[in-house]
Amino acid sequence: MLMPLFSEIDQKAWRMGPHTTHVVRRISDMRGMYQDEQAQAALEREDPLVYEVFTAAIPQEEGHLMYGISIVNPGKVGDEFYMTKGHFHQKLETAEVYYCLQGHGYLVMQTPEGQVKTTALSPGLVAYVPPRWGHRSVNVGAERFVTFFIFPADAGHDYATIEAGGFAQLLLDGGGKPALAPNPRYRRAHGPR
Ligand code: ZN
Repeated sequence: MLMPLFSEIDQKAWRMGPHTTHVVRRISDMRGMYQDEQAQAALEREDPLVYEVFTAAIPQEEGHLMYGISIVNPGKVGDEFYMTKGHFHQKLETAEVYYCLQGHGYLVMQTPEGQVKTTALSPGLVAYVPPRWGHRSVNVGAERFVTFFIFPADAGHDYATIEAGGFAQLLLDGGGKPALAPNPRYRRAHGPR
């Protein structure tokens, strides 16, 4: 039996502790994820930080809930906003909640069949990602885009499907406004290609 525990979120530095895992993704960790490969290669020289995730040290077992914070920095690769890699849950039939703490961004969500939905997030807004929907966070603002997330601890992460096929729609800077555009390199995870 796990004893009750708590975490503290530093709402200035955007750190969560104690007993967390900390994942850091730089531009060089995002190879193949952005449309503009030349812009990506140029950015790799400085290799800026794209996003960080702090996750509570909870057993990845049925019945538990996993939670943490995701911090996406402001920036672009070519016309494409900084974003997380995005993933499906290994247990596809599991949901997730995202609560925005700072900044302005989007959750881009996609079914294995390629249907795409987006939800804009700013502080105070909560997004519900139903079972089956892969998801990625995109920062379209000028400050850090920070969300608190919570999902079934045994859900698992499937990054490979997104790494192989991408999302069907990209969020690009359309002259100061975020605009969805079809991803020419998208390959559907399931069903007819
Ligand atoms: Zn998830």
